[in-house]
Parts: sequence; C-alpha cells; structure tokens
Amino acid sequence: MAKDYGGVRAVHGIDLEIADGEFVVLVGPSGCGKSTTLRMIAGLEDISSGRISIGDREVNDLPARERGISMVFQNYALYPHLSVFENMAFGLSLGRTPKDEIERRVREAARILDIEGLLERKPRALSGGQRQRVAMGRAIVRHPQAFLFDEPLSNLDAELRTQMRSEIKRVHQRVGTTTIYVTHDQVEAMTLADRVVVMRDGRIEQVAPPQELYSHP
Ligand code: ADP
Ligand code: ADP
Repeated sequence: MAKDYGGVRAVHGIDLEIADGEFVVLVGPSGCGKSTTLRMIAGLEDISSGRISIGDREVNDLPARERGISMVFQNYALYPHLSVFENMAFGLSLGRTPKDEIERRVREAARILDIEGLLERKPRALSGGQRQRVAMGRAIVRHPQAFLFDEPLSNLDAELRTQMRSEIKRVHQRVGTTTIYVTHDQVEAMTLADRVVVMRDGRIEQVAPPQELYSHP
C-alpha cells in the first residue's frame, strides 16, 4: 500500500502480512512513515493505493470503528469527569453491548491490568502509569482483532517507560491479541517484538525477528 500527501509519496510499497497473535513493531527515524502506515491500517487515513485486509476481510472502504481494531495513542485523553470504570466502559456503552456484559469485560480487563482497586477513582487521582493502564483497558474491553499502538510510551520518564514496556508485553502474553506497535526507540522494538519492521524514507528496509536484525553501517 502507499500514501501520498499532495503529490508527495510519504509511504510506498508497504507489503506486510501479520499473523494472528503476532506482536509486530514498526521502527525507524522520525518522518519515515510509521505513523502514516499505522493510521492507514486503523482507517484514520485514506490509502492512496493498495489494499488492507484484516482477517479475511478487505477493509479499505470500512470506517475505523468497523475494522475491529483498537488504537492506543501517546496522549489518550481520559474523560476527567468519569471514573476509571466509566472511562473503560464508555466506548462499549455507545454500542449495543448489554450492561452486564460491559461490566464483565471491564472487570476482566481491570484484572488483567491489575487496576481492580482503582475502578471508582477519577483520572486525576491516578499516576501516569495507572492512566496508561486505563487507556489500555479501554482498548482491551472492546475485544478487538488487533491493537495498534502509536508511540504509547514516549511521554513517560525512563523508569515508567521500562515498567510500561513489560506491562504491555505481559498483557499481550495474556490476551494474545495481534499487536502492531510504532516506536522510534530501537530498544523498545527489540524487547517487545516477535518481528521488527525497520522503516526508512517511507519504505520497509528489513523485516526480521529481533535476534536476526542486521544493522547498517
Ligand atoms: P513517522 O511516524 O515515522 O514519524 P509519519 O508517518 O508521521 O512518520 O510521516 C511520514 C511522512 O509524511 C513525513 O515526511 C511527514 O512529514 C509526512 N506527513 C505526515 N502527515 C502528513 C500530513 N497530514 N500532510 C502532509 N504530510 C504529512
Ligand atoms: P506520576 O504521578 O506517576 O508522576 P503524573 O500523572 O504526574 O505521573 O504524570 C507524569 C508525566 O507523565 C506528566 O508529564 C504527564 O503529562 C505524563 N502522563 C501522565 N499520564 C500519561 C499518559 N497516560 N500518557 C502519556 N503521558 C502521560
């Protein structure tokens, strides 16, 4: 697939197949097209040419909310006036999910994320790491086919970043949901990925498991 911005090709020839349950990290310097690629998969950005399929469904013409994927952003705003429970339930409560099912899913996600004791709190009474977990909880309760992360840790300090990195890995091991994760941080890519996709200048430069990556001089 490819993406042009006003006649300028930002991303080209991305040809990538991701297995069910796989954790794939797109890594590369700022401006290389990681975020654009992720946003095309999410349906937040029109694709200029090519095709995107999720499972056995081609999704090019489907709006973001019908693609069965959840995106976790760097600066996800939690609703300040809602409790943690309500923040996590919010997306589902707009849909047709029955109330007891919403409750079950929120409690299940809270258990996975170890935030069961925080469900009644407001976001302002949470630490940075706890907010990050709530944001992940919002994605988990939707039971998506895939999670997409766009630099979720880049605003956190080093200690919290390391902590959340293992948290994300742990959650992936528990729920097994296919994950596509964007970062400019090579250490993050190496620690998290089953497969690393190295991008440069809008193209894929190499795709390999972390231990098989070669580095350019
Ligand atoms: P990365 O996520 O790797 O930092 P991006 O996908 O954000 O890279 O950007 C890839 C290229 O596309 C860059 O050259 C960027 O300037 C350009 N670009 C991104 N978004 C837009 C936009 N909305 N309009 C025009 N150019 C854009
Ligand atoms: P702590 O209480 O753990 O020090 P704070 O809530 O004071 O955490 O936030 C510390 C820093 O992390 C602040 O700069 C804040 O903007 C940032 N931050 C907090 N929550 C998030 C989040 N969910 N995503 C990204 N950055 C966050």
